[in-house]
Amino acid sequence: MSDGRALARQFLEQQRLLGGEPVILSDTGPVPAPPPPQAVGRSGGQAVRRSGGQAAELPPAGISFDPPGGDLFSNDPVQQAGSLDAIAELVTACTRCRLCEGRRHAVPGEGPGDARLVVVGEGPGRVEDQTGRPFVGQAGELLTKILAAIQLPRERVFICNVVKCRPPENRVPQYDEIAACVPYLFRQIDLLKPRVILAMGGTAAQTILNTKQALGALRNQVHRCRGIPVIVTYHPAALLRNPNWKKPTWDDVRIARRLLD
Ligand code: URA
Ligand code: SF4
Repeated sequence: MSDGRALARQFLEQQRLLGGEPVILSDTGPVPAPPPPQAVGRSGGQAVRRSGGQAAELPPAGISFDPPGGDLFSNDPVQQAGSLDAIAELVTACTRCRLCEGRRHAVPGEGPGDARLVVVGEGPGRVEDQTGRPFVGQAGELLTKILAAIQLPRERVFICNVVKCRPPENRVPQYDEIAACVPYLFRQIDLLKPRVILAMGGTAAQTILNTKQALGALRNQVHRCRGIPVIVTYHPAALLRNPNWKKPTWDDVRIARRLLD
């Protein structure tokens, strides 16, 4: 029973963080049932929602993209970089696109080399540019809460962006800037070999999957990038502007969580 109560408390806390409907438990009322122990296998069908919001099936397969990588004989230093630190060093000195001109700090990304989840955003904002660290502003605080809600301390996740230098006034990175920078991201993914990639926002999703499809059309599918499952969801900065997207984001991150287990 105490297990059920702990789960219920956790559920309510998640609802609070992610803006779910308020739930009022009376002292005598039933404790919500704990979620089923394990995800049911894949069948390629749409997720079926139970009353508790638990998805019974994984969403169908989506896009599969194999970005060009370096071959063994490539003399491109990005392809030759043998560690995340080596990539970070290259990024810090990089002048491959115009975004190097306005940066205070490049933001290569951070997290452990054995991270099972990689979160990808769009590009550094003001605080990130000031500190050299990804997702440390307001959107970053929300991301930290979202990760905590699926029992992932942010320290166990590798967090990075499509472009590693801040676009002026936080504008969307341009096509040529993304093209110049994305080899760093793909090399990071190659080295990390995570179990799941969570693409937050349209720029991350479209870059990782090499598509122009809108974010709304890409959600609720299990895509692949070099064979690694990719889940697409809203960007935390968008959630700050539009709290209605918190609930769907919560659905998405739970799918990512289930793929991790
Ligand atoms: N938004 C992003 O996309 N990335 C960050 O690192 C911070 C805000
Ligand atoms: Fe280099 Fe990427 Fe920064 Fe452009 S955004 S200068 S490609 S690290």
